[in-house]
Amino acid sequence: MARGRLWKACVIASLTIFQALIKVTFHSYEQINWETCTSSDACLVPANSKNATCGQGSISTYSVHATSSADVVKYVNFATKYNLRIVTKNTGHDYAGRSSGKGGFGLWTHGIKGISRNTTFVPAGSSIAPQDAVTIGAGVQWSDVYQFADDNNIIVVGGDSPNVGAAGGWIQGGGHSVLSQAYGLGVDNLLQATIVTANGVERTINEYQGAIRGGGPGTWGIITSITYKAHPGVPCAWVSISSRFSTVDDNYKLVQKYIEQAPVWADLGGGSFLNILPQSVTFLGVIPNATSVRAKQGLATIEPALPPGSNISYVDAPSFQSFFKATFDVSNEIVGINFALSSRLIPRTYFETDSAGLASALRKGQVFLGSSADVQTIQVLADTPAPKFQRNVTSTTPSWYNSLWHVIYTTAWPSNATVAQQQQLIKGIHDGAQVLRDYSPNSGAYISEADVYEPNHEASFWGTANAARLKTIKAKYDPKNFFQVWQGMDGMALRIRSTSAMLSSTPEMHPLLTSFA
Ligand SMILES: Cc1cc2nc3c(=O)[nH]c(=O)nc-3n(C[C@H](O)[C@H](O)[C@H](O)COP(=O)(O)OP(=O)(O)OC[C@H]3O[C@@H](n4cnc5c(N)ncnc54)[C@H](O)[C@@H]3O)c2cc1C
Repeated sequence: MARGRLWKACVIASLTIFQALIKVTFHSYEQINWETCTSSDACLVPANSKNATCGQGSISTYSVHATSSADVVKYVNFATKYNLRIVTKNTGHDYAGRSSGKGGFGLWTHGIKGISRNTTFVPAGSSIAPQDAVTIGAGVQWSDVYQFADDNNIIVVGGDSPNVGAAGGWIQGGGHSVLSQAYGLGVDNLLQATIVTANGVERTINEYQGAIRGGGPGTWGIITSITYKAHPGVPCAWVSISSRFSTVDDNYKLVQKYIEQAPVWADLGGGSFLNILPQSVTFLGVIPNATSVRAKQGLATIEPALPPGSNISYVDAPSFQSFFKATFDVSNEIVGINFALSSRLIPRTYFETDSAGLASALRKGQVFLGSSADVQTIQVLADTPAPKFQRNVTSTTPSWYNSLWHVIYTTAWPSNATVAQQQQLIKGIHDGAQVLRDYSPNSGAYISEADVYEPNHEASFWGTANAARLKTIKAKYDPKNFFQVWQGMDGMALRIRSTSAMLSSTPEMHPLLTSFA
């Protein structure tokens, strides 16, 4: 997974050995700020002490481990009977801590496994033609799905990280993929789902799909399985380029070239990942069902603009899995980091009419990123879908379908950073994204990779029309708000719901929330 790899390079030096050893397990989160983050009882074992007192942090007070739909039904009924806020956790990758929750009743879905293929799948109650499909359990991760797909010579559209869950937060956020330009977002590939709603009923959903198709994670019930479209396996052309400049000005001239080239790459069906530092840019792009001849056409204006010493390589891969294994896949994803990001979807019109202005806005945002020069990174995920994939039942911000880049500002900090230092860094990326919000005021942001202080988050994550519809669905299926997450639909309205003496709660979700924004 590209981001994990890059973060590793950036922050590994500042991690304690204890942090680096933490794995994504029952109560672990990819970013430990979601384990440790409370102002009063953070739990981070000091590297030099075996006897330190460890508080509960943001981890649910009690948790259960579900391995089947029947378990989920049982646990949801228990939680609602005792009026507990349900905190659903799968892999713990959420960037806003939505799978952690102080005082909540944790329900771990990672043990619900299983992958199967049905070449003549018809969604329940539908009359559409049978199609090739893959059904996965709630706890399956992308690495498993990709291997299964490769073994069956098919493609399933999925995330860039092998370890993100394939049927949890990814799909409910919208689910972008380096394949999205060619095949759509995850939500465009969802055929059916099963979900246990707050009344303890497992539903095979149809009318409800608009909510889990981008309505946000952790808000609607507990998904137990998802069925995705399967596409025929095809060869893929991919290219990697890295270049370094001695001046920031020259570097951003190349960034402007990448901006101008982005519509061409997208129209060829390509997705890509760019990592922009003040004096360097790396590009990794892939086009499914293409050869490197086509990839070279897509980069015709880039090659002449590269500085001497740049590395460029084109590869004709026999399959998507071959590309993925060589690039995004990492067997030991770095976890236990303190990390935050902010983001903005950038509509295509700016690429076509104002490349200099967009390059300038990206650069202006980057200088806000605080004082740790080694983590001032812009990550661009050109994982947006072609407009033809937009469907009415999709609840994501419509900006996904008219944008070319999902731009992310990232920051990270060592475990001994003070709250003030954390605030400064997080404010830096918040302000960086604000430059892009001001630049593209009618666009939106991706709920699953957004600023935890995203302003006007409903308009930003869903758009006002989708948000209004989602409110109605929420009121119908979870009127007592058992499923509530930070900046989820109605997540802010009732705050923490638990009134049980056993699971006493506070509204604290992040120590910085009370003092910033
Ligand atoms: C390294 C990394 C790479 C990423 N790459 C991509 C990418 O390529 N494309 C992309 O779109 N996103 C990407 N993301 C964002 C990712 O999609 C979200 O973080 C997503 O929410 C993770 O879902 P999860 O189920 O794995 O994680 P968790 O943190 O366990 O859960 C995330 C959210 O989903 C809810 N949830 C989990 N399981 C269920 C369930 N069964 N039913 C109901 N709610 C559930 C949780 O309550 C929580 O709100 C990436 C994130 C990271 C950290």
